[in-house]
Amino acid sequence: CGITGYIGGGESASVLSTGLKNLEYRGYDSAGIALVGDQVKVHKQEGTIDGLTIPNETEATHGIGHTRWSTHGEPTDENAHPHTDCRGDVAVVHNGIISNYTKLKEELAGHIFESETDTEVIPHLIEEEIARGADLRAAVTRVLDKLEGSFAVAATHVDYEGIVAARQDSPLVIGHGEDGMYLGSDVTAFVEYTRQVSYLEDGDVAHLSEDGITIFNDGERVEREIQTVDWDA
Ligand code: GLU
Repeated sequence: CGITGYIGGGESASVLSTGLKNLEYRGYDSAGIALVGDQVKVHKQEGTIDGLTIPNETEATHGIGHTRWSTHGEPTDENAHPHTDCRGDVAVVHNGIISNYTKLKEELAGHIFESETDTEVIPHLIEEEIARGADLRAAVTRVLDKLEGSFAVAATHVDYEGIVAARQDSPLVIGHGEDGMYLGSDVTAFVEYTRQVSYLEDGDVAHLSEDGITIFNDGERVEREIQTVDWDA
């Protein structure tokens, strides 16, 4: 339902909590975040954002968050996002539907799944690509080729200093801040931090780092215009 992300420094937990609160208006049944520092720490549960305890992990340099409106699997703690791979190194949030997830799950024999979501195939597919030597950006790019449906995803990996975001028929917007880069399924996720935004297009794979973004589409580097949002949020 809603996606938020931030990379840029010690305030990740508070920026992501704000992002989740800002996304509340869309409606949701569960919420969660993954904070990435020396480890990936996931805090997620069914129920309200106010009920979610997010410790202030001051060493986390970045993270991703999600408000879920379940389509595949009941609203439960296990089905809440972010979802991880078997090792707990990869974390993924996802809006929309992966329509071929049953087939993909069958191909992931040997992986242990902890949820009933369509989403959970994504971190496991990323794990496979990373095991083959890809970095997170390359892994997400390869995994996108396998996914059918409409989706927006954001992914992190413990050894990767950045957030990788991608979309297909579901909105994602990047915020260019003075103190880092923001990600949202819409501008409200981060509007109090920056109003300089660029909208991703279908097939875009964006790498967000502390000081900027690089975007690829179909293997080619692309630029997306930076616009100023001037409405009151
Ligand atoms: N299909 C996913 C799920 O059921 C994502 C739903 C959403 O967009 O929140 O977990």
